[in-house]
Amino acid sequence: TSIFAAVEMAPRDPILGLNESFNADTRTTKVNLGVGVYFDDNGKLPLLGAVRAAEKVRLEAMPPRGYQPIEGTPAYNQGVQKLIFGADSALLADGRVVTAQALGGTGALKIGADYLKHLLPNATVYISDPSWENHRALFEAAGFPVATYPYYDAATRGVDFAAMKACLSTLAPGSIVLLHACCHNPTGADLTAAQWAEVIEAVRERNLVAFIDMAYQGFADGITEDKVALDLFAASGLQFFVSSSFSKSFSLYGERVGALSVVTASRDESTRVLSQVKRVIRTNYSNPPTHGGAIVASVLASAELRQQWEDELAGMRLRIRAMRTGLVDKLAERGAKQDFSFVARQRGMFSYTGLSVAQVDRLKNEFGIYAVGTGRICLAALNSKNIDYVADAITAVL
Ligand code: PLP
Repeated sequence: TSIFAAVEMAPRDPILGLNESFNADTRTTKVNLGVGVYFDDNGKLPLLGAVRAAEKVRLEAMPPRGYQPIEGTPAYNQGVQKLIFGADSALLADGRVVTAQALGGTGALKIGADYLKHLLPNATVYISDPSWENHRALFEAAGFPVATYPYYDAATRGVDFAAMKACLSTLAPGSIVLLHACCHNPTGADLTAAQWAEVIEAVRERNLVAFIDMAYQGFADGITEDKVALDLFAASGLQFFVSSSFSKSFSLYGERVGALSVVTASRDESTRVLSQVKRVIRTNYSNPPTHGGAIVASVLASAELRQQWEDELAGMRLRIRAMRTGLVDKLAERGAKQDFSFVARQRGMFSYTGLSVAQVDRLKNEFGIYAVGTGRICLAALNSKNIDYVADAITAVL
């Protein structure tokens, strides 16, 4: 008999499953609010002008495709470091940051998780309740028990910071705490700078290990503003991990461009940590792909292309904000039986709307509008053509 005869079907990814149902829907008015992807006002996935320009140069140069270094190129890794820590960061001057190119933010989390399993084999990982679906699965797959800390408060549609802080203050030393730098996925509720300072104190007091996931730099208030958590951690003198991604900010989803950065206590530690991170990469996929990292590196290194990229990123950020306030206004105009002003306060691509499973089902069945069962919608999938239809539908199902 086949070795696969008794293999069971793995559960479907809930969000990718939603896409399949959406694609099969024949209604022309259908809207997919499920995916975590930025679409422009025409509902199209943008190819940024800065990316296009860098790709043209690269294509004309026709570079050979040798293997990259295990940790990626210095040009890329230094570009990442300057972007996420700031060009004049003392951490960088002191050689306290190890950065390795990774296969998107997910790949960065995976390298970090595998390395942490060597470093702290008995740790528990704490993720926010709720968190990005893949956080739990990824750290469990790396061999860690995964638990949650309180985060979202449905009553205020914000963060229950008192509960979060109280929980962090009870964790065992050496526990790993996964934190979202900004644009929390799935809730859109972020910490303030003052709350970050308190988190850092808890991390210090309890000897916790912070792992900061930054998948949406530039989507809340701006490139510099959105790294406030990293700035505060950098100033704290603590060691910590950062996974970062260019999937959303460069609209380079399929190129898989991200990075793992590890902040150590000294240049000497950095050398040793890098050698261990390289070992993890070498035994997973040997070295990263060339194209996406080269494009990002050349955009970040060129004053002109970098400005173009920042302008395009600001365009994405402002369009999402306009969709937030637009949806709030349109729901109010339609006399929606509920106050949705919180949607304008939440940040990044997502909103936890508070819609129930039954309401989400009605949106799908009666209107062809697809949202995640938790009530999460992606504001970046709204546009000037579908926003009235979506506002009508939400008002109808309330
Ligand atoms: N972390 C969070 C919080 C995310 O929302 C995402 C993507 O949706 C990722 C990581 C993964 O990003 P990437 O597509 O670059 O792997």
